[in-house]
Amino acid sequence: MKTKVDIISGFLGVGKTMLIKKLIKDALGSEKIVIIENEFGEIGIDGNSFLENNVQVKEMTSGCICCSFKNNFKKALLEVIDVYNPDRIIIEPTGVAKLSDILKILENESIKDKITVNMILTVINPEKHGLYLNTFGNFYKNQIIYAKTLIFSRAQNFSKENLERFALSIKELNSKANLITSPWNHIEGDLILRMCENISEDLLFSNPRLSKSSKINSISTSKPIKASDIFDSLSIKTSKFFSEKYLEELFYGFNKENHCGFIIRAKGIVQVSENKWIQFDYVPGEFNIIDSTYFDTGKIVIIGENLNKNKLSELLAL
Ligand SMILES: [Zn+2]
Repeated sequence: MKTKVDIISGFLGVGKTMLIKKLIKDALGSEKIVIIENEFGEIGIDGNSFLENNVQVKEMTSGCICCSFKNNFKKALLEVIDVYNPDRIIIEPTGVAKLSDILKILENESIKDKITVNMILTVINPEKHGLYLNTFGNFYKNQIIYAKTLIFSRAQNFSKENLERFALSIKELNSKANLITSPWNHIEGDLILRMCENISEDLLFSNPRLSKSSKINSISTSKPIKASDIFDSLSIKTSKFFSEKYLEELFYGFNKENHCGFIIRAKGIVQVSENKWIQFDYVPGEFNIIDSTYFDTGKIVIIGENLNKNKLSELLAL
């Protein structure tokens, strides 16, 4: 039997891991699953958080599977199928990966016969849609255009009118995809799964946008741009203690003296005091913190544009 391959894409910090956890908990408990989790930074953080025993996590860090890590990704896929023979592989690309590039890799001769591309799901934070469209058009649009299903994160924070407005703007980019606008914490995971899977046409091999490479070029620039050309990333291990306030001010760039560039994503697990660890997550306009269990060392991953890496290391590392 061919292995099902699901791709859960979405821009940085949108909540992909949270959605994957929900799908596994609600609907995929009886399947043998391998998650390929790709982190742009050198340190994987989410990988620690899957504890279900039907789930294996393979972390790929320090590069992006759609561009700089293409060959490693191919190898990893084949290896996962060979070693684990899972029912399903869930791919969580980096937030800046191009969906079309990943789909192209899955079309590769050595892989194509062993898998069925199943879900192609992109998570969108409606609140950040305008900002990301203007700032990171190329990567961001690509994740919407090539998705089969689009789902809103944080939908519960918006009025019905606003959600409809967002939905219209997203439909302009991709009118064919299923769009799930209900808050996902109110929907059972197996319903989400059915909505994603109940599309008989296999996009990968029948979508004209993918089968003619000339068309692919027409939506990107003539010279392929890699995520690493635009985004900087920095991974830091640290044994310093941090207050929530300190981190928040640093990421938001409130303190002009400590300005470190445009941070579009920061996440990590750090120590607040001798006995307290927190896991934090920053995207522009939003800083979330939850308690974390003890860790061997603090880890921080930062992604952004024009990052002042020396300054950041000076402020965060020890
Ligand atoms: Zn990439």
